[in-house]
Amino acid sequence: MFFPSHVMQRLFRYRTLIVSDFIAATLLICSLLSAQIVKEYTSGIQWPEVKVVDPGQPGGPPADAIVLFDGKDMSKWNGGEDWIIKDGYVITDKRDIHTKQAFGDCQLHLEWASPEKIEGDGQGRGNSGVYIMGLYEVQILDSYNNSTYPDGQAGAIYKEQPPMVNVCRKPGEWQTYDIIFSAPKFDEQGKLIKPAYITMLHNGVLVQNHFEILGTTSWSEPPKYTAHPPKLPLMLQFHDNKVRYRNIWICEL
Ligand code: MG
Repeated sequence: MFFPSHVMQRLFRYRTLIVSDFIAATLLICSLLSAQIVKEYTSGIQWPEVKVVDPGQPGGPPADAIVLFDGKDMSKWNGGEDWIIKDGYVITDKRDIHTKQAFGDCQLHLEWASPEKIEGDGQGRGNSGVYIMGLYEVQILDSYNNSTYPDGQAGAIYKEQPPMVNVCRKPGEWQTYDIIFSAPKFDEQGKLIKPAYITMLHNGVLVQNHFEILGTTSWSEPPKYTAHPPKLPLMLQFHDNKVRYRNIWICEL
């Protein structure tokens, strides 16, 4: 049978409309059916309301943080009076310093800068350190074009684990450490039942990812755990180099 072309075009358009209506109707039926079959999953746990915390400025302390150094005041530190406060930062001097308060599980933020003028090399260049619980050192070192052993450079868990990458800025430039630490646990007999773990960002880059700490930091002996209280003071190391610190805050977890 022969139809003129305008009739053919109309027939084709009707067919297209019928097919698209059929598809739309099928989709509608499917969605109605699935709405009846699929149910929302809930865990059944009655979670408490999540606490609201003002996050503050980027890099700055959130409202629930304990500010350990705000650029002016080192009164939260034993020995802080021996370090030199200047222009919103503090310079290491004379001795290691410890927080007056003890901490266990925590999130720690701090900013540091190695001396702009390069002096010394290897471990003798811009050396300091963050000793979490006063026992487990996250190394601070000028690791910008400065060769040393990998597990002794900036971002290393000293003598235990090198950082995943070296993201050290140039001498004199400010750098950030953001550390998430879970403290080790010991039973009543002093036996280790859970090691410490650390996750850490250096200048915003992941350098330690849930690393299982092997024990107390030592220069001369292999790391090993010795039982200690669940909270201990944080320590910043004086290693004869003039390292600067600013914006130090901590959140207990
Ligand atoms: Mg050190």
